[in-house]
Amino acid sequence: MQLQKPELLRAVPAWRVLRNFGRVLRDSSVNSRKLRALFLLSAKVPFIKEFWSHSWHGRQSMKIWLLLMLKNGLPAVCVGTFAAFLAAGLSYLEILPGWYKAPRIQSPGFSGEFRYSCWALFSGVVASLLTLLLWRSGDRVFLDRVCIHQGDDVLKAQAILHLGAFLKSSKTLVVVWDATYLSRLWCVFELAAFLHSHKDDVQAKLVIKPIVVAPLMFIMMTGGVLSFAFELILPSNGLVLIVQAVYTLGLSLLATYVQEHFWHEVFTAEQQFRAFRWQEVTCACCSTGHLTADGQRILCDRVILEQCIVQWFGSVEALEALVRTSTRDTFLQQATRGFPFGYLWLLGGGSFILWGQADHVAARAHGGAHWHATSVLITTVAWFLWVSPSAYLVFGRIARWMQKKQGAKLSAPSYCTVKFAGYSASVVSTFLPSLWQWWLYSTLLDPVLAALAFAGTSLVFAILAYGLFANPQTQRNPSG
Ligand SMILES: [Zn+2]
Repeated sequence: MQLQKPELLRAVPAWRVLRNFGRVLRDSSVNSRKLRALFLLSAKVPFIKEFWSHSWHGRQSMKIWLLLMLKNGLPAVCVGTFAAFLAAGLSYLEILPGWYKAPRIQSPGFSGEFRYSCWALFSGVVASLLTLLLWRSGDRVFLDRVCIHQGDDVLKAQAILHLGAFLKSSKTLVVVWDATYLSRLWCVFELAAFLHSHKDDVQAKLVIKPIVVAPLMFIMMTGGVLSFAFELILPSNGLVLIVQAVYTLGLSLLATYVQEHFWHEVFTAEQQFRAFRWQEVTCACCSTGHLTADGQRILCDRVILEQCIVQWFGSVEALEALVRTSTRDTFLQQATRGFPFGYLWLLGGGSFILWGQADHVAARAHGGAHWHATSVLITTVAWFLWVSPSAYLVFGRIARWMQKKQGAKLSAPSYCTVKFAGYSASVVSTFLPSLWQWWLYSTLLDPVLAALAFAGTSLVFAILAYGLFANPQTQRNPSG
């Protein structure tokens, strides 16, 4: 795995891959001028910050969204939140227009209407979306299509022979995971080579992001933003409350459905790992019969890679044993431990809470209800930092339980019972925090006291939920 030709080690700034909604990833043309232009996007580097490992057979648009979130997600949340707070300030100062309506929970000592608007929510969405699409992350990443010259056979063969060394020179391996990942020769090779070359390196990072995270984040964001928009724009009457409840119900069912899909992929991957055989993984060269478009014979990738594997692992069987055991464990632990998709990702996906609540704070503060505005600030912190993430933790575990039961080949009535129980549990966990908050506000009367009680009790619940559901040890052997 030594890098004999350092000039072969190349990387590309992430923004060059992601600009124009990842055109480099979407464009599948093979004319030689274009291939050279692609190669010239990359440059020589002393090491690779991130090696992007992905299957070209997965869904491209989802992959691009995921990579955009990975590289630009943090700036997007920060810029969006800054824009939202700025807009809330301008709205408070009446520089931005607003409308008067009665709030659902009246501030003590107040009886009239407050001046509402949804500028903070709107600015947060627009600013974060633009940042997500346009931010220029300078992180040097390795992408096969750009960093290996696809139009020059000699350079390509040399680079392929050095791929193991490239992986050794990479600080992080980012696995963009979909159902096709483990069936692709190159993907398995990259994963195994990275783990093998960094087995004694505690600094090396393996980041596994399932593609299903992208639609889930999208549902989470859109659903939450619309929910806030309803609350801010529509009048606070009984009919609107019913519509909102039905809407939230639908959202909760959808979120659980997507998480079920996620767990289905995890269990499938686990089975793929257990049954992994080198001879069964496929590569593009085999599907074309090892002939180029103009009829020339090419060498099979498998033959080249097999030589590397025998050199590093001793034999193909040794690699298979590694993939079936320690690679599988690392992979599963990464994909399933802790909060679903990772705590920071849930915070990012829940950043609309900050934006929407900023509009509520601006409305109360504008009307002089500063005590109530303070209480909204307290509940915002609670919802953002632990109520929403722990709700997703609970959804995730319910979805996992349903998938596990389904894997056990149930009879039709039992299957329906499992589904009904699972979805009902999700719905209950969606409404419980809101109902609890509402009950505290209407019972305790002092809004700050109610907010503190809500924050405290929900924190205790979140810690309990984490202790019960986030333990990776219980994830190891799901009966698929
Ligand atoms: Zn082949």
